[in-house]
Amino acid sequence: MITIDGSFGEGGGQILRTSLGLALVTGKPFRIQKIRAVRKQPGLLRQHLTAVNAASRIGCAEVTGASIGSTDLTFAPQTILAGHYSFAVGTAGSATLVLQTVLPALLLADAPSTLTLEGGTHNPFAPPYDFVARTFLPLINRMGVEVTARLERPGFYPAGGGKFEVAITPAANGLRRLDLLDRGDIRGRLARALVANLPISIAERELAVVAGNLSWKEAWLKPETVDNSRGPGNIVMIEIESDQVTEIFTGFGQRGLRAEAVAEQAVKEARQYLKTGAFAGEHLADQLVVPLAVAGGGSFTAVRLSRHMTTNVEIVGKFIDIDIQTTMLPDRTWKVEVKTGSSPP
Ligand code: AMP
Repeated sequence: MITIDGSFGEGGGQILRTSLGLALVTGKPFRIQKIRAVRKQPGLLRQHLTAVNAASRIGCAEVTGASIGSTDLTFAPQTILAGHYSFAVGTAGSATLVLQTVLPALLLADAPSTLTLEGGTHNPFAPPYDFVARTFLPLINRMGVEVTARLERPGFYPAGGGKFEVAITPAANGLRRLDLLDRGDIRGRLARALVANLPISIAERELAVVAGNLSWKEAWLKPETVDNSRGPGNIVMIEIESDQVTEIFTGFGQRGLRAEAVAEQAVKEARQYLKTGAFAGEHLADQLVVPLAVAGGGSFTAVRLSRHMTTNVEIVGKFIDIDIQTTMLPDRTWKVEVKTGSSPP
């Protein structure tokens, strides 16, 4: 059985989610100890437990240690069952991260699936729904699958209550490799500031920061009011549409954080991206590793290598006979090449 130290590298929920996803795809059982040991609240939170339960249903797995606060889990999948699934986090915990866990398996299933996911859809430290729908899934669809997503209701911390649906038609002949080296020319720019149950002036102040820092035109700024959220929420999303990819950089509103500071989070990442010609920003980069490994190969360029990324690379190596090379390019961005060895899953 593969053993994993949940506290190594980035040391968070991603080690668990990546392990669950790869166990499903390869059929290999694993044991993980010290889950999120270095976090303020160690062990499984509702969001992680929902990911475990989702993976366990889809993989008909035998699981031990699946309870809130658990720091030790074993997971032994049997098969991948396509189907119509609903998973609810039950708190404002991220529902998009539940999707991240089970998507690779459902891309390889022998029939289409649908997922209804409930919880947080726009959470700090997680991919916002818009990033999933507009950045991540269009790339996944280039692998020869068809994945569509529809947001019914956004869910913000702390009220949660968000809901979205995903329909997945797997690849008929396995996943195609992806080579994402050049993003091409920039075709469009859009900064959206969403407010739910909060004054629209917050969105306007945020967009003024974006416009001032990036020298963007008024036509590229869009304040939006969300009218079907259970609680208050605020998010700034800076979209950069290039020929080959639409990247989204996010600032998450939080109680006690000034609107200007929220916008500055997103501006900082967008600016870094615009300075380089790299295909992927930091977050997209770590999320590409597993799909490319499962597809048996691929490559991409990235603005930087995060700890999430290097941790994912290590976990992938435990499940799949793979060689992932990272090379710094002259402009200090990175090229990541995923080359599977003799036994792809
Ligand atoms: P963890 O911190 O281990 O729970 O993992 C968080 C995951 O969410 C990683 O895959 C991150 O790349 C992703 N993530 C965090 N923030 C963002 C963001 N602003 N946009 C897109 N993905 C994100």
